[in-house]
Amino acid sequence: MQHEVFYVDLHIHTTFSDGALSPTEVVAYASKVGLSAISITDHDTVDGMQEAVDAGKVYGVEVIPGIELSAQENAGSQEMHILGYYIDWKSQDFNAALDVLKNARKQRAKTIFQNLKKSGIELDGDGLVENTGGKNIGRLHFAKALVEKKYVGSISEAFQKFLGSGRSAYVPKYFMSPKNAIEIIKKAGGIPVLAHPYYGRYGKKDIFKELINCGLMGIEAWHKSHPPNIVKKFLNMAEELNLIVTGGSDCHGGYGKEVPLMGRIKVPYRVVEELERAEEKIRNCCCRS
Ligand code: AMP
Ligand code: MN
Ligand code: MN
Ligand code: MN
Repeated sequence: MQHEVFYVDLHIHTTFSDGALSPTEVVAYASKVGLSAISITDHDTVDGMQEAVDAGKVYGVEVIPGIELSAQENAGSQEMHILGYYIDWKSQDFNAALDVLKNARKQRAKTIFQNLKKSGIELDGDGLVENTGGKNIGRLHFAKALVEKKYVGSISEAFQKFLGSGRSAYVPKYFMSPKNAIEIIKKAGGIPVLAHPYYGRYGKKDIFKELINCGLMGIEAWHKSHPPNIVKKFLNMAEELNLIVTGGSDCHGGYGKEVPLMGRIKVPYRVVEELERAEEKIRNCCCRS
């Protein structure tokens, strides 16, 4: 007899960062594709969490509070993303740390806007910068606006021509260090996990070890950008280094006629149980301030 397997998706963005679906739409879609649990992991914000938690109760989908923090070792070095699970998302200290990032994003958006203007691009009237509608503004919002206004034919062209590193409208982001990101998550009682380690140079054991010394507890082994052999490599490495493995689609909701990626990466429910056990340990531990 075959046992029913329950699946989860622990990496999803909403309209509160650069996703296309609202938290309620994300939960409704998760329910439609039969996911048992999801985590909302917006970039540098938890502003969509209450709506997601409420929708989770309505749709019968377990919603795990999460975040994806952008970090960087030095100016100019590659971005590293740290996921945080089971964070106390209402914590004042945590939200104060996020406010710094949010304000920095707003300032950066103004500069991107000005840079685009210098290239003859007029996004005025979209309310893109001044009226962000509560979302944590980033380059994907500009990319979508550039497509909508027909300055470019696709999102990737927007990054290639204007928004990508070294292009005319590129503005680096304000960053915290990976150590700082891990600490912020831990202080909020969360479990820090290295996101999509296959990007760039981060899939290396010595880097994992450095991050573990800073408090890293897990790696995202299953991700839309990880081919099967890479998933296997990270599963083995996690076992060797005693790290929790997590996974998710990194769904941004789809663009235009694209179908959302949610649920496409098969992550078993036992991952949630492992995170829960880790969270319990942290809760009972003296390292939480
Ligand atoms: P930001 O955090 O504002 O620098 O924006 C980074 C986000 O932009 C990423 O999380 C992706 O959602 C998106 N992004 C970055 N580069 C590309 C690209 N080449 N094509 C499509 N989306 C991209
Ligand atoms: Mn994104
Ligand atoms: Mn990321
Ligand atoms: Mn992401």
